[in-house]
Amino acid sequence: MTPELMAAGAKALAEHKARAAAGGGARFVADEAYFGQGVALYVDGITVSFDGFRALNSLSLTINVGELRCIIGPNGAGKTTMMDCITGKTRPDSGTVFFGSNIDLLRLTEPQIAQAGVGRKFQKPTVYEQLSVFENLELALKADRGVRAALFHRLSGQQLDRIGELLTLIHLKDQSQRTAGLLSHGQKQWLEIGMLLMQEPKLLLLDEPVAGMTDEETERTAELFLSLEGKHSLVVVEHDMKFVGELTQGRKTVTVLHEGSVLAEGLLNEVQANEKVVEVYLGR
Ligand code: ADP
Ligand code: MG
Repeated sequence: MTPELMAAGAKALAEHKARAAAGGGARFVADEAYFGQGVALYVDGITVSFDGFRALNSLSLTINVGELRCIIGPNGAGKTTMMDCITGKTRPDSGTVFFGSNIDLLRLTEPQIAQAGVGRKFQKPTVYEQLSVFENLELALKADRGVRAALFHRLSGQQLDRIGELLTLIHLKDQSQRTAGLLSHGQKQWLEIGMLLMQEPKLLLLDEPVAGMTDEETERTAELFLSLEGKHSLVVVEHDMKFVGELTQGRKTVTVLHEGSVLAEGLLNEVQANEKVVEVYLGR
């Protein structure tokens, strides 16, 4: 780590602390999502057009509480656009998106949706490169939660414990003081997942999380996701069929998207044997 990097990191942390101490102004208080009916995410008939082109065409799917759902499909199928609609980045032209059975996500803004308990991992890792692994997790803990940020200028013992647990979970325990910019691509992805988990999201959306990872990193990521299943609901978009196989263990539902709607849904071996799926996706 160079002195410049250390100075830049210290400056970013100080600025963040100042913002957090100043408070974020009026805060949105999300209704508590209700999961008693077993539904984590309900998407019904969403359509998105870009200049007349239908990126999503009456897409419907339901994710159960604690479920780990893999979504596959060719490039351009609408997988990322679907995540954009769930997280408030894109507004569908029509349709319904509910989080739990009571929260209408189409009425909330992007930060409100995050605060309600929906975490999203984009394709590229976005960590604070100049800060340490530990500081990245510390910021994630305080970032969106203005109240907490105002309450805790220093980490409580409980928060330290939580960061410690997460460092173990994301395989970065012995890297905690390392500058994030020096981590491997896979380690940066894990760190970002750890940052998401600091917010304790109920639903996690992960867009191509193992793209660019080594085989070993991919295997460890599968273990990590399997350990999150149950405690969180997960939606994982991936092209890596070996990884999807490890996640689904021959018994979980896989959804295949094509041209903005669900082409097939079933066990991995079932959709892999589906002629339409082979034709548009797997046969290439
Ligand atoms: P996937 O993630 O499955 O590869 P995307 O959701 O990224 O697919 O894209 C679905 C389709 O929508 C693609 O044809 C893409 O070019 C188009 N698209 C996505 N975002 C936009 C946008 N902001 N403007 C115009 N077209 C877009
Ligand atoms: Mg995509």
